[in-house]
Amino acid sequence: FVPDPEKGARVAQDDRAHVFHSWSAQAQISPLPIAGASGSHFWDFEGKRYLDFSSQLVNVNIGYQHPKLVAAIQEAAARQCTIAPSFADESRSEAARMIAERAPGSLDKVFFTNGGAEATENAMRMAKLHTGRNKVLTTYRSYHGATAGSIAATGDPRRWANEPGVAGIVHFWGPYPYRSPFHSADAAQECERALQHLRETIMVEGAHTIAAIMLETVVGTNGILVPPEGYLAGVREICDEHGIVYIADEVMAGFGRCGEWFAVDHWGVVPDLICFAKGVNSGYVPLGGVVISAEIAATFDERVFPGGLTYSGHPLACASAVASMRIFDEEGILENVRKVADTVIAPRLAEIADKHPSVGEVRGLGFFWALDLVRDPETREPLVPYNASGPAAAPMTELAAACKAEGLWPFTHFNRTHVVPPCTTTAEEMAEGLDILDRALDVTDRHVTG
Ligand code: PLP
Repeated sequence: FVPDPEKGARVAQDDRAHVFHSWSAQAQISPLPIAGASGSHFWDFEGKRYLDFSSQLVNVNIGYQHPKLVAAIQEAAARQCTIAPSFADESRSEAARMIAERAPGSLDKVFFTNGGAEATENAMRMAKLHTGRNKVLTTYRSYHGATAGSIAATGDPRRWANEPGVAGIVHFWGPYPYRSPFHSADAAQECERALQHLRETIMVEGAHTIAAIMLETVVGTNGILVPPEGYLAGVREICDEHGIVYIADEVMAGFGRCGEWFAVDHWGVVPDLICFAKGVNSGYVPLGGVVISAEIAATFDERVFPGGLTYSGHPLACASAVASMRIFDEEGILENVRKVADTVIAPRLAEIADKHPSVGEVRGLGFFWALDLVRDPETREPLVPYNASGPAAAPMTELAAACKAEGLWPFTHFNRTHVVPPCTTTAEEMAEGLDILDRALDVTDRHVTG
């Protein structure tokens, strides 16, 4: 790659003049112009290379520019660029079959969308029509997308400016042992209390009014909250008891991120609907969807499903999903995630937690880890306040800058940094990235006051 700062300047100039960016005050941002990417790295027009510990928005699970995936999209484009959802299409049929083969239980049919928000939106729609009920329960500290229903379902500050949102969404607390909303002493007690809290929420809301409980199997952006042993099985049981649909939002946790095709496989739990997007084809072409149980699918055997999208099951997107799943199998990518997690991430993060007073807790599984950073390890006061921005978030901005200076692109959110690289990242690359993170955390240690 030959650096081309002039081109970079042009890209930046057009961006600032004409691109309206998501989640941003437009005058306060200066997006980095990107010249190219390969594997676990991307680089700018100056030639500075970054090891990506974010997988962009935790979606580039197969890494950048995988040659077989690029070739599959090129072949699919030459064959059939587009066809309406009402036709049977080769790539669409095959993608649906392959996803169904990988999904647990009787989840055998796939409704395709363009991304995650449309997946959670349509899953809620299916659950409401299937049950004839109106409410959906979701957790605080969750993200489900930015369309009307999915942002209302979201349990983080991104919901606030979109309120009052849609009717019928009720938030409850999920388990989070390190910052327990139930003041639990350990994970087992957290599990028990969280399930009791859910039962009581259902009691006072009226079980007969609740269509669905929607949960991120492992909460992603809001903290990599791994459910304690028994929690998801407990949710399944509660749903069965009351005829409530269990929706697993695996937009971020699925397709390799947790070392499984579907994160629920880690706990052997079978939801009624699974939402996917991101890792299904690593965003090479936009794609998401809902995998549907036989029972819910049967509701729409003789009754029209009142939902659709012009690009539902887009041939290029589906062809890239087929190719991506094949590559995962051929290259043992799930195995890579499990092996590198066990041999590099878990032990190295444990060392980092021991060494740095600003690291309150490390938690995760697969290639899905969080470092929960604190100002005081005793009180667990977060390094920066919930939803901090601007000067209040300075310690996190400094951490990100220290990582970037050494060529590591970090994922940061509130008081946490997440380790969420592409699932193809090698043990050597992972070790290199964790070494950089280790050094960068000296910056956050300086803010420890406890
Ligand atoms: N659900 C979860 C768990 C997510 O992490 C996201 C995106 O980050 C979404 C839904 C929304 O997906 P999209 O941005 O593709 O609409």
